Amino acid sequence: MTYIVTDNCIRCKYTDCVAVCPVDCFYEGENMLVIDPDTCIDCGVCVTECPAEAISPESPELVKWIEINREYSKKWPNITMKKPHPTDAKEFDGVKNKFEKFFDSRPKKQEKNES
Ligand code: SF4
Ligand code: SF4
Repeated sequence: MTYIVTDNCIRCKYTDCVAVCPVDCFYEGENMLVIDPDTCIDCGVCVTECPAEAISPESPELVKWIEINREYSKKWPNITMKKPHPTDAKEFDGVKNKFEKFFDSRPKKQEKNES
């Protein structure tokens, strides 16, 4: 089993989850995070930290999201520290079908002071 990031992370990206993950298995795209399912140890501590309630245990209904987490955790950079969320994150919390409307497949560009 693994935990996965789902639709409501898109354009919210609060990153509270990153601060508590014991194995640093979050990866960052331009407007959402994903979990590397092969590294996640299924501890579940990130679930209650997410203000957007975007993290779930894997389940048959979430196959699409398991694949998205698997694919983009290989393409995006690792994120290990919480950072400021988008200024309009609150406006997007709870919007339906964000993947179809807003998903950005680009890896997050690293800031100058990040490695
Ligand atoms: S805390 Fe939730 S909304 Fe924020 S980055 Fe993590 S999964 Fe996304
Ligand atoms: S369930 Fe645990 S190991 Fe998996 S992403 Fe969340 S905090 Fe990290």
